[in-house]
Amino acid sequence: MRVAEFQVLCRRLEATPSRLAKVELAAEFLQRLDVDEIPSAVAFLSGRVFPASDPRVLEVSWATLAEVLHALVPPPAGGSLTLLDVARGLAAVAEVSGPGARRAKVERLGELLGRATADEREILRRVLLGEMRIGLHEGLLEEAIARAAGADPGLVRRAALFRSDLAEVARIALTEGVPGLQAVGVRLFVPLLPMLAELAGDLSEAWEAHGGRTALEFKYDGARIQLHKAGDQVRIWSRRLTEVTGSLPDVVAIAARELRAGSVILDGEVVAVGPGDRPLPFQELMRRFRRVHDVDAAVREVPVALYLFDCILVDGRPLIDEPYGKRWEALEQVTGGRRLARRLVPGDAAAGEAFFAEALAAGHEGVMAKALDSPYAPGSRGKRWLKVKRAETADCVIVAADRGSGRRRGWLSNYHLAVRDEAGGFAPVGKTFKGLTDREFVEMTARLQALAVDDDGYTVTVSPEVVVEVAYNEIQRSPRYRSGFALRFARVTRIREDKGPAQATTLGELRALYERQFASKGRRG
Ligand code: AMP
Repeated sequence: MRVAEFQVLCRRLEATPSRLAKVELAAEFLQRLDVDEIPSAVAFLSGRVFPASDPRVLEVSWATLAEVLHALVPPPAGGSLTLLDVARGLAAVAEVSGPGARRAKVERLGELLGRATADEREILRRVLLGEMRIGLHEGLLEEAIARAAGADPGLVRRAALFRSDLAEVARIALTEGVPGLQAVGVRLFVPLLPMLAELAGDLSEAWEAHGGRTALEFKYDGARIQLHKAGDQVRIWSRRLTEVTGSLPDVVAIAARELRAGSVILDGEVVAVGPGDRPLPFQELMRRFRRVHDVDAAVREVPVALYLFDCILVDGRPLIDEPYGKRWEALEQVTGGRRLARRLVPGDAAAGEAFFAEALAAGHEGVMAKALDSPYAPGSRGKRWLKVKRAETADCVIVAADRGSGRRRGWLSNYHLAVRDEAGGFAPVGKTFKGLTDREFVEMTARLQALAVDDDGYTVTVSPEVVVEVAYNEIQRSPRYRSGFALRFARVTRIREDKGPAQATTLGELRALYERQFASKGRRG
């Protein structure tokens, strides 16, 4: 396949807004590829230089690339460069390292791009910068692969969860067809996407979602790991499926020493710990992952604790379709009960609340509530795993209220909450009708009506005077509100009679709190 054809495809993909047309164009292109062209072609289409599971990196900065492009002589007329030429050229660039590497990379990249026409240079520049701008996101690429292979898109998506590399999935789909895709499953030393959790407002919600019985585990604030072991070989991947074996020699040693099975895949969390095994902030742990040289020193400086909470495969047998209760039993067997996440299947709500309080008191973020009958769903975020976190509070100003209905008829009961913005105004961050007693509703209604400045029959806009303390479990980015943020599971915990609007939480403070969520945990996949 010539790069010229790839470039034409990209131009057409960019030009059409139709999803269906994009899928058709990409599918037709995929069908025309030779087997050995598939990995690079699919990687390039998804804006990657190498396939996702390929550990090679180019290490060419934007500035270096600009320098290379600037130094090129006018391009040749005919486009004879092929995708395989590009793949080989990029491999040669990735290969060089050490002193003088930059010079060598510039030369090799110059050689490659020197052979490309102007149009080809432009598309290769986009590949190199990871900015394809062809509107072919992962879901559409999966559909294109399915279409090219005559397979159900669901089957391709499923394979992608297990292989987390569309280039590899495309190779299987296009060379082995539907049976090949069907055979894709858990495989040792091929990391699969971890199962994720949804946020719940409180324990009772989790209780309800799981039908009255749920397992609670401490939610550790560290880094997710997936550990694969066969014989005495141990390898570890992060939540984003980058290999972190080299950063965690102590965890490797634990696994080699303690796990009692021929082969296993385990899911867990590593946490940096200080004196008395108290968890340290997430940044401490990152020091460990950033260190490339002298890992041994990092191991001594930042000791980690390992907490295991799932068993995905044991002795060659995948357990992902087994209920979580069974997988936990397998985990207990394999570990001999060591290094497990603290866990309780509470008999009643009070026992659950006590366990939650214990997790917080020990310095953790909260608990995970897991449905006992749930399979392991790679890459999916759902209600089978619910996280319940410590609530935070913000002091918000009520800027408007909606009229209630049903039992709340006659009251102003749904409050529009805002924080102070930089311009001296108030920026909305959410609404809530939770937290007040009936009596407080009645009083608040009278108070807000006296502050009304506008009324459209449903929403009463009020002068921003009343401050309430609002508990929430997470700050979310939100396009809906001008502030750009929304408080999840907001409920009023107190009416702050002692505070005026000038003492309310500011947008700047909220932004900082939002950022802190990422510094500690809750990074989205
Ligand atoms: P979040 O990152 O806020 O979506 O929370 C989910 C993350 O919590 C997981 O990806 C794990 O890294 C982490 N975690 C900590 N303890 C547990 C546990 N017991 N079970 C599952 N995940 C846990």
